[in-house]
Amino acid sequence: MKGICILGATGSIGVSTLDVVARHSSLYKVIALTANTNIDALYEQCLEHHPEVVVVVDEHKARIFEEKLKSSTISDIKVLSGAKALEHVATLDNVDSVMAAIVGAAGLLPSLAAAKAGKTVLLANKEALVMSGSIFMQAVSDSGAQLLPIDSEHNAIFQCMPAGYKTGMQAKQARRILLTASGGPFREMPVEQLADVTPAQAVAHPNWDMGRKISVDSATMMNKGLEMIEACILFDMIPSQIQVVIHPQSVIHSMVDYVDGTVLAQMGNPDMRIPIAYSMAWPERFDSGVDPLNIFDVGRMDFEEPNLERFPCLRLAYDAIAAGGIMPTVLNAANEIAVEAFLNEQVRFTDIPVIIERCMEKFEAKAADTLEIILAADQQARLASAQIIGELTN
Ligand code: NAD
Ligand code: MG
Repeated sequence: MKGICILGATGSIGVSTLDVVARHSSLYKVIALTANTNIDALYEQCLEHHPEVVVVVDEHKARIFEEKLKSSTISDIKVLSGAKALEHVATLDNVDSVMAAIVGAAGLLPSLAAAKAGKTVLLANKEALVMSGSIFMQAVSDSGAQLLPIDSEHNAIFQCMPAGYKTGMQAKQARRILLTASGGPFREMPVEQLADVTPAQAVAHPNWDMGRKISVDSATMMNKGLEMIEACILFDMIPSQIQVVIHPQSVIHSMVDYVDGTVLAQMGNPDMRIPIAYSMAWPERFDSGVDPLNIFDVGRMDFEEPNLERFPCLRLAYDAIAAGGIMPTVLNAANEIAVEAFLNEQVRFTDIPVIIERCMEKFEAKAADTLEIILAADQQARLASAQIIGELTN
């Protein structure tokens, strides 16, 4: 029986993870669940999964939650609050696997703590890896942690790698990665209409049901930009070895192109329970609850090259990784602030890449050797982005 800690339990990935856990309760025991503010969802999860401990990051909400537990049948669950507690529960002795599914930079420290503690890290939080790439991979190799990618594309690539492959290694016979992208909801919208896109339109993804931030990232294709950087880090490749492919049906989740001309693809219905179940059962497989793929319903599959004019965020991600150092951290922070401003209807959809580009122009790509440098760059880029938004909206 393995103990699991789910960081970001109340989010889209967290909920899917608990769905898989419930199917395999003889193999996994929930030790810890964490939420930022959504205590109603967390309470329901506690009733069903009875963890030993929960973290509610927001202190006020944590106190309300604690009161609610007192008069319930699950009053023995320990409640912690504050961001530091995330690191604590991710490193508990009886936790074997940590699902790192907090959205954004807030997930960096707890995900890294899990890696340093030698846990099996099921990594959904791509922003953490984009920010801290080499430090994160070094922590994994120093501690002997197992790092398994949850992002569907990276999970697909991992599944298409040679037997015995470990993340962080270079698979010498793998020549290229074909990183698939649905193209999001605005793949065919006339470019001049993009400025009027609303948050509700941007979060309505055609194939995947995801959190709001990643849904906007998919619409701008920043998600694919972050994933390109994520792929370079996880599979030790350079950007020119990663070809982004628009594949609107989202049936192939990515491919690996080998030196002999073989291309291996992983396919399945677009449901995150597949990569989650794969990582939880690895190196074996078990039921994910997802319907079998009906290839006749799929019928056809299309592939196109991405248009960098329609999707400037993808170009900015290539610029950031080419510059190196802290620039991917700056890109990520500026994107988080710009997306939040868009979701709050402060800026237009088309302002998102403008804010990120102006922010990147303000920074030099100095080396990202330490966590302190990375966290400082993250904070400075957030402030710079907020200032740029102020200038744009005045
Ligand atoms: P979500 O918005 O649905 O959930 C986010 C979770 O993080 C929630 O549990 C929330 O309580 C927690 N959280 C938010 N801010 C926090 C903070 N400051 N401190 C602590 N906890 C905080 O997001 P999601 O769609 O589940 O995505 C989670 C991560 O997984 C993201 O990094 C995303 O890029 C990645 N991912 C998601 C999908 C998907 O299908 N949803 C696919 C691939 C990768
Ligand atoms: Mg993905």
